[in-house]
Amino acid sequence: MHANAEHPVRARLIIRGAVQGVGFRPCVYRLAMELGLKGWVNNSGQGVFVELEGPRVQIDRFIHRLEAEKPPRSSIQSFETVWLDPAGYRQFDIRPSDDSGPATALILPDIAICEDCRREIFDPANRRHLYPFTNCTNCGPRFSIIEALPYDRGHTSMKKFPMCEQCCAEYEDPRDRRFHAQPNACPVCGPQVELWTDEGHLLEEKHNAINAAAVALRKGSIVAVKGLGGFHLMVDARDEEAVRRLRERKHREEKPLAVMFPDLDAVRNECEISPLEKRLLTSPESPIVLLRRKSIPPDVSGRIAASVAPNNPYLGAMLPYTPLHHILLAQLHFPLVATSGNFTDEPICTDEMDAVRSLAGIADLFLVHNRPIVRHIDDSIIREMAGREQVFRRARGYAPLPVFLPKPLPPILGVGSHLKNTIALSVGSQVFISQHIGDLETASAVAAFYRVIKDLEHMYGVNPEIAAADTHPDYVSTAFARSTKSRVISVQHHAAHIYSCLAENHLEPPALGVAWDGTGYGLDGTVWGGEFLKMKASGFDRFAHFRNFGLPGGDVAAREPRRSALGVLYEIFGPAVFDMKKLAPLQAFKDSELATLGTMLQKKVNVPLTSSAGRLFDAVASLLDLRQKTSFEGQAAMEMEFAIKNIASDRAYPFRHDNGMIDWEPMVREIIEDLGRNLSVSEIAVTFHNTLAEIIVSTARVSGEKRVALSGGCFQNKYLTERAIRRLREEGMSPYWHQRVPANDGGIALGQVVAAGGMLG
Ligand code: ZN
Ligand code: ZN
Ligand code: FE
Repeated sequence: MHANAEHPVRARLIIRGAVQGVGFRPCVYRLAMELGLKGWVNNSGQGVFVELEGPRVQIDRFIHRLEAEKPPRSSIQSFETVWLDPAGYRQFDIRPSDDSGPATALILPDIAICEDCRREIFDPANRRHLYPFTNCTNCGPRFSIIEALPYDRGHTSMKKFPMCEQCCAEYEDPRDRRFHAQPNACPVCGPQVELWTDEGHLLEEKHNAINAAAVALRKGSIVAVKGLGGFHLMVDARDEEAVRRLRERKHREEKPLAVMFPDLDAVRNECEISPLEKRLLTSPESPIVLLRRKSIPPDVSGRIAASVAPNNPYLGAMLPYTPLHHILLAQLHFPLVATSGNFTDEPICTDEMDAVRSLAGIADLFLVHNRPIVRHIDDSIIREMAGREQVFRRARGYAPLPVFLPKPLPPILGVGSHLKNTIALSVGSQVFISQHIGDLETASAVAAFYRVIKDLEHMYGVNPEIAAADTHPDYVSTAFARSTKSRVISVQHHAAHIYSCLAENHLEPPALGVAWDGTGYGLDGTVWGGEFLKMKASGFDRFAHFRNFGLPGGDVAAREPRRSALGVLYEIFGPAVFDMKKLAPLQAFKDSELATLGTMLQKKVNVPLTSSAGRLFDAVASLLDLRQKTSFEGQAAMEMEFAIKNIASDRAYPFRHDNGMIDWEPMVREIIEDLGRNLSVSEIAVTFHNTLAEIIVSTARVSGEKRVALSGGCFQNKYLTERAIRRLREEGMSPYWHQRVPANDGGIALGQVVAAGGMLG
């Protein structure tokens, strides 16, 4: 879904790598002129900045051609695209270099292996033939090996590997591809792999270790593989029994597992790939891309096993991005499950001794190496959303790149949210966002949280006095901020969501923010999550929200959609709901449970009130009997989206606006009628989604704001987000959504910093 083809759009590209002094700007200029695009290009301390304005198709052409036709001596290590409102450029200019910004040393993310290095490792005549740590100036580890700045070998975890004579010669030769390549290494002087038993005993060394790991994987073993930013657990993705064993051991019941495919053709066998998705899969960032599957495979050998992503029309796919992965996959020629090496929701393991301790019950073998990982970095996860990339998990390839603000801020530490935690740090007009840390529910996650804060502060040489934290009094992150910083600015959760969306779209208030997620601490003591916030020059108003309903059991309800459904039904029907025995949520409880829940609801004991859109999704998923209990966050909402299948419909349910309250009662009543008429789950699901889009449009209209920012985990739902964008545009409004920063709680830290910065004036 694109904007009207003639409608100009603006893209801001930030291209980092060997792009300065190699004829890059003239190449950009020539392409822009040829394609009739307006805008500008300049060099800065950060890389080459390009702004392009014109029809979307022409900008897409520009990006593809730039990658294909870039100067021969240039190499791209990071390619950021952010889509913005048109600025009204009239021509294309080469602007003078910009050295005005603060001279923040830039730490590049880790970069997928380049084509030149890939050729070398598969060339039997090359001295790096099958050497799994091959890299050059254009590729290889960065963020995961840097101990301190400036970035040179002595400040990386490569310092323990003195270069051999040949590597030294490359490193010192300005004409060599490895001139000043800090992680430069070869089989003579560099790191090596080993294969260990699950007790940490050495089995094989060097290439024999990879061979033996491949043999084990072929037989269905689970192998923990030390990669760039941590361990993966790998297993043959076609082997149903082996995948199930991995799930059991990892205590990961249904959450989809990512798959590493040998090459693009192998991905194409399983999934549809759009041009943008292809670019992302093969980019230097090389993330996991959520791709639509060609069909969910029946139990056929050679296809992806059903339990990799049960009942899921999407698959998280990635390509090998390190030499080690390439060498392993080239031997196997089949896809591997490649999931983070951790227990469910704990941080990814980075150290081989730790890994053996904590993954011993999961992995049969350990393929390890002796290049230390300085900081953990998971694989990033991306989904194409309304024709743009949208980051779901921001880590390898993306962290710690900054988001640019219009004006500088004093140093502020944003400590993030409780789930999917990241932290953020402002340095001048840049906000650096950490890699994904995880849910702060375990001691090891909290330890990682402390470590990452110290790390980022140390890296950028700032010790902020000010922290921005969630208003929730019981969050670990908030407590940390209070105990370590002299000033803590509280930022309401959903306001933080919207500030982060505005910031990455280079917008300032006024705007209407639509913040829909599972849960966030509300300013009135209820649980918020279905919010319309009017963002003003200073602060925000809660303009509208979903009608509250009770969540019997509180936190437990987040894992049991049937409880949300009961809360919604009780809000409409009162105690009479307990006579509506035919409804799926009631059938999902035992009579004794219903009796208890009835008492709780009546006496309002442990029944917090919520306006959460996520819980409303849960309630409807339960009514449709799609899911009564979940095993991971967002599961029911995800299944609601998937239930739409390919139905095209514009039907929406009725709803009411009542003084800033959006009443879903008419919708729920009609859903119950539809169920009585035996309408299909798909039809009800699509109508429900359409209703939510209409609620956004009509509330935006009432608010008088033309600019509407969509944030919160609910906007990872492709149908909802794309429908809302389309409908808002049809009504003459301007929608904004997330691109390089997660819509989920991974974006909260950025929003906190921006909000706090605004409050300081
Ligand atoms: Zn390379
Ligand atoms: Zn060497
Ligand atoms: Fe949230």
